[in-house]
Amino acid sequence: MTLGLVYDEEYLLHEHTPTHPERKERLQYTMDQLREEGLLDDPSVARLAPEMASNEQLSRVHTDDYLERLRSMSASGAGMLSVDTHISAHTWNTAKLAAGGVVRAMDAVATGETESAFVLARPGGHHAFAGDGHGFCYLNNTAIGIRHLQAEYDVERILLWDWDAHHGDGTESIFYDDPSVLVMSTHQDGRTLFPGTGDSRDVGELAGEGYNVNVPVPPKTSDDGYRTVVEEIFEPIAEQYDPDFVFIEAGQDNHFTDPITDLGVTAQGYVDLVEHAMDAANDLAGGDIVASLAGGYGIEGGLPYTNLAVIATMLGYDTAGIREPAIYEPPSYEPDISDVVERVQRIQSAYWTF
Ligand SMILES: [Zn+2]
Repeated sequence: MTLGLVYDEEYLLHEHTPTHPERKERLQYTMDQLREEGLLDDPSVARLAPEMASNEQLSRVHTDDYLERLRSMSASGAGMLSVDTHISAHTWNTAKLAAGGVVRAMDAVATGETESAFVLARPGGHHAFAGDGHGFCYLNNTAIGIRHLQAEYDVERILLWDWDAHHGDGTESIFYDDPSVLVMSTHQDGRTLFPGTGDSRDVGELAGEGYNVNVPVPPKTSDDGYRTVVEEIFEPIAEQYDPDFVFIEAGQDNHFTDPITDLGVTAQGYVDLVEHAMDAANDLAGGDIVASLAGGYGIEGGLPYTNLAVIATMLGYDTAGIREPAIYEPPSYEPDISDVVERVQRIQSAYWTF
């Protein structure tokens, strides 16, 4: 199996403040871990160099006014897009390089250069709307990559599974009326976490009605809960949708060590999620799958190990030994999510069979 790995040292240049949770060490510690495990020396791992997304690629998703606002704020050297989303001199170019990273991964998999790809980039994108951004996000990397894929290749239907702990409000809004992208999201219940959206009744609109699936899970939901959601909701819908391509918005902030969320997934839980995603890609989409890092802030906790778990599973490694450091105690409590599953199935049964 060959995996394309998109990474560039310039992803470290964008900064908020030195103590902001979304900082460069997220990528540096992950690269150290991948190096230590020998992944970077594996000939099955093809390093893919990104280029900045072009104006044409950006304009397929974002408004000209918003792009100009980002560019000029970054050119001025400092600013704030929202209370926790800072702009520095490097933000504009780094954000374009992150979006271009997803584009590069899409190209690699669509042309058969690599079988799958993982994008290790920052800043993330799923809180970026067509004309605004917040939640540490500026450009919607995923949407830019998906629109590129649809414009340049014979790819009609894309299954976008966003497992980040936060609801991807920007991504949902961009594809809300579009049946060519099925957005399935698991996230910590918006009543308990930023950005507060992601209600299970939000099912898409117009031609996109029925193509937006929100599964808000309660705090502390762990490996078993996620597996239940995948098996009871995601897999039946994915099978009926029959995508041409699978994209994972790989937010690693479901890990139980994450400092800004309250979920309970372990490194082995990520292995399980990826195995299910790979199965869906192999069974339905000819194996075409790209995963892109979204959140994940347990820099000295679980993040390097969850990234390792995702990449190693995509490579088909024996992943049984992948664990977070032993000093962290995995959660012993798992909330009952059967009422959440039943509720989502009831709402989505207008469009899908369970
Ligand atoms: Zn997140």
